[in-house]
Amino acid sequence: MFSRFPPAAALLLLSTIAEAQQRVGPDELMRHIRVLASDGYEGREPGTPGGERTEAYLLESFAQAGLAPGAAGGGWRQIVGMIERRPERSRISWKAGTRRLEVPEDALVLVGKEARLRLADVPVIFAGYGMAEHIEGADLGNALVLVLGANPPGREGAAELSARTAALAAAGARGVIAIAPAAAPWPDVKTAVAAGKAVPLDRAAPLEGAISTAGAASLLRGAGLDLSSISEEASRPGFRARRLGIDASFDIGTTVRAYEAANIIGRIEGSGRPGEAVVLMAHWDHLGLCKPEGTPDRICNGAVDNASGTAILIETAHAAAAGARPARSIYFVATTLEERGLLGADAFAASPPPAIERIVAALNIDTTAIAPAGLPVAIIGRGNYPGLKRVIDATARALGRAVDTDTEANVMIERQDGWALARRNIPAVMATGSVSDMSRLRAYLDGPYHKPDDDLDQRIELGGAVEDTDLHIALARALADPARYPAP
Ligand SMILES: [Zn+2]
Repeated sequence: MFSRFPPAAALLLLSTIAEAQQRVGPDELMRHIRVLASDGYEGREPGTPGGERTEAYLLESFAQAGLAPGAAGGGWRQIVGMIERRPERSRISWKAGTRRLEVPEDALVLVGKEARLRLADVPVIFAGYGMAEHIEGADLGNALVLVLGANPPGREGAAELSARTAALAAAGARGVIAIAPAAAPWPDVKTAVAAGKAVPLDRAAPLEGAISTAGAASLLRGAGLDLSSISEEASRPGFRARRLGIDASFDIGTTVRAYEAANIIGRIEGSGRPGEAVVLMAHWDHLGLCKPEGTPDRICNGAVDNASGTAILIETAHAAAAGARPARSIYFVATTLEERGLLGADAFAASPPPAIERIVAALNIDTTAIAPAGLPVAIIGRGNYPGLKRVIDATARALGRAVDTDTEANVMIERQDGWALARRNIPAVMATGSVSDMSRLRAYLDGPYHKPDDDLDQRIELGGAVEDTDLHIALARALADPARYPAP
């Protein structure tokens, strides 16, 4: 018998040497940022040529770094199907028994998942706020569901309307129409739906849209019902979705654009516990052409947000793949659609590659190039995972960095990709100097953030990003080593 791998002491020595030799400098990071934030990449919007260019660049960079493809089926891409829907001409009629109910045509704005959707005599169900307990046991199959679009009163943190709509669609609803809150100006609601915001294909209902408060009141009145009393009913404990005795027939026209965006996933397979994984992630996408045609600079290049984090991810992958093989697997995930609400990270968390049985830790890297060298390492998510925090603090100190022990960066927790994993109980944090000084972060957020100014013309500070790259190289090794980071 012989061991294919060097004994632990030699491994430690090897990895120390490798770490010392693999310092990544600002030039290596800038090389990627200069490409990703160039005008040729058009702001890296998923579903555009600039988005495709970015995916191709990442795939090539990961392969050159020495990673193996990490997505399901042995490829690099985890596809997220998206759909944009813009309303065209549509007709809808309502009746209670044999009586026709009148609703003004401009009180509705509706889109379908297909270019044309025709359905006759579909029963209408009122599902309150559309929360899980409101639809429990209800048969929504083949029904058109009316829901209150407002946030449920006294329910801080309840799922947003889009998530409630997706749940209703998953429960079989043929359509979901939200009753616009009285407080929201109806023209604004209409404009928002008509703008055709992209949503994941698997969350779209066959028919979706909104009805004005006045329109809903008039519809219900015709059927002998009252909007304010059924709204009240929905706030009472024990409320369950119920039929309203109304049927709807419709013919809905929609301009549909479907597209695919991808998380690019590479991996280093673990030698000892390949089913356990450390995940490093950074979102590659940005806002694309974010200003109207004719504007002198209409490209939101996203140099800091998040070409900088993507550059760190690539260079960390490069260093990690060049070193000794880790015991656990390490996954490098360049996520898509972060700017649309963490959708790529969400797709990854919902169905990670089948080779992963357990994610022991995830580190997200976002908007790093705002901090100079010498800042302490802060953690978004500090205090949530003691074992992970211990390793991060010890690793930062071993690299000569100070540790920021307060928790003020936690205000950003839901605004970064790590949240998609953390909310599924996967230990996920962001460790960086760029959130140790919140006034510096705020200055960036009040400045070039999400504007065409976040481009290569600004002064891009890479002092902190270089240190954060070293930190992530060291952390990838430490977290992939069960002796240094026992399973949480
Ligand atoms: Zn952003």
